[in-house]
Amino acid sequence: MNIESIVAQARAEGRSLLSEIEAKEVLHQAGVAVERAVLATTIEAARTHAEQIGYPVVLKIVSPDISHKSDIGGVKVGLEDADAVTAAFEEIMRNANAAAPDADITGIAVQHMAPQGTEIIVGMTTDPQFGPVVMFGLGGIMVEVMKDVSFRIVPVSERDAAQMIDEIKGKAILDGVRGQPPLDKAAIAKAILAVSEFVEHNPDIQELDLNPMMVYAEGAIAVDARIALSG
Ligand code: ADP
Ligand code: MG
Repeated sequence: MNIESIVAQARAEGRSLLSEIEAKEVLHQAGVAVERAVLATTIEAARTHAEQIGYPVVLKIVSPDISHKSDIGGVKVGLEDADAVTAAFEEIMRNANAAAPDADITGIAVQHMAPQGTEIIVGMTTDPQFGPVVMFGLGGIMVEVMKDVSFRIVPVSERDAAQMIDEIKGKAILDGVRGQPPLDKAAIAKAILAVSEFVEHNPDIQELDLNPMMVYAEGAIAVDARIALSG
């Protein structure tokens, strides 16, 4: 489905939040590298999808009422075989029912597990004065505690993207620490530019988060995505 149909379907269902599966589908179409996800509503389907995707896989809760999936035990990573998929499926459903008994559960998203990289965040928020603004930062505590992020107003130029990457205090981490090779800044810049272009042409989008995106010496891929529509 294209972005127009995905947005129309969400609105018809009274949702202002796209599911991770929908968000990744539209981002993939926009040229952002994402670990795409498939919906399973039964254990059997989850096992079949996992087989097709190839192990290791990750299973995650899909619910319009649950936005921080790991907070409720709704994410299981590193699943190496079909039995692990079955156990993870059952455990995620149990956790969701315990933590959010009234939540509407769409199903479980099955996706490939990306190798561990350095986690970054690329996001977009709508400023009442400036309109869409793109954000970049290192993942986890660097953003949440240190607030070490950079911002630019959309449309972001190639030069802006390079500066955003260079501007954060933790930038030494991107240059490679403890003998690690430097990370692929061109892949980060590409994601920032693709997000900027995407939101510039889709005013329906109010907020967007790639949180996290894994970055490697070569390449970068978003493993979680969230898109909120304007009201
Ligand atoms: P939450 O809704 O809690 O933000 P995420 O989808 O971000 O859930 O998953 C939590 C964490 O699990 C991520 O920060 C990442 O470290 C890891 N993770 C999630 N999906 C994948 C994946 N496809 N490959 C590798 N790691 C993943
Ligand atoms: Mg996340």
